[in-house]
Amino acid sequence: METGLKNRVAIVAASSQGLGRATAEAFAAEGCRLAICARNRETINVVAEKVRREHKVEVLAEPFDVTDAAAVRDFVNAVVQKFGSADICVTNAGGPPAKGFLATTIDEWKRAVDVNFMSAVYFAHQVIPHMQKKKWGRIITITSITTKQPVADLVYSNAVRAAVVGLVKSLANEFGKDGILVNNVGPGFTATDRLKELAHVRSATLGKSEKEIFEGWAADTALKRLGEPRELADTIVWLASERASYITGQTILVDGGLYKGL
Ligand code: NAD
Repeated sequence: METGLKNRVAIVAASSQGLGRATAEAFAAEGCRLAICARNRETINVVAEKVRREHKVEVLAEPFDVTDAAAVRDFVNAVVQKFGSADICVTNAGGPPAKGFLATTIDEWKRAVDVNFMSAVYFAHQVIPHMQKKKWGRIITITSITTKQPVADLVYSNAVRAAVVGLVKSLANEFGKDGILVNNVGPGFTATDRLKELAHVRSATLGKSEKEIFEGWAADTALKRLGEPRELADTIVWLASERASYITGQTILVDGGLYKGL
């Protein structure tokens, strides 16, 4: 399948590990020029070096927190200065703490909004004017299956991710005329460090082993297994490609059939 992505400039936020990293590597495999970030300079540089070595593409890697609006602005400016455009922007960040509602705190609610919603606002604000100039752009937010179906112990995610869907649909409506497509992907249970963290919490809550928790999650899907980061990454690459040119404002779950609705 010809994706038409060669030489496109792809920003992938929070990409030192897990889903972000797999997405960055998948864009690099398509010949995109890459801009990646995470909070730790060393870990993001390791990814940048590996991608340069394996895919022979240019990579800009910067350490910053995606809740820092000024840092996001400076990063997008640096991307445009280096590469001349910001064609594709994948927003991502770490997941909020896992707990039930009465254990939540006001500070954590505010942090969840900053990390999992405002970070997407900051990136969209910065990249859209550049995309408008080129009359071409793709914004893809990484959220969660919780945008369609709440998950136990993930009340922050269940509540805050819905705001991202509202943002995605609004941006899709407002900027479709400029050739900018905006979509959201919702991973189900996908084998990353984040999932190990969730298994740990569920195991303590339910008094089961982490192995039993993983098996239970897998059994709950139609495909009877967890997802691989690469499977989400490939969906994002397809959404960014010319092959998905009439899809905007959608939430696409990559969940192995975990979602129970129609
Ligand atoms: P992960 O914890 O393995 O990786 C998160 C990445 O984000 C890391 O590179 C980390 O350094 C970076 N990061 C975290 N907070 C940041 C910040 N404030 N600023 C900059 N970088 C930051 O998580 P993952 O499994 O790759 O998940 C990515 C997102 O998808 C999370 O929001 C997670 O909640 C969500 N999600 C994951 C799953 C899953 O099963 N893995 C399922 C549903 C939703």
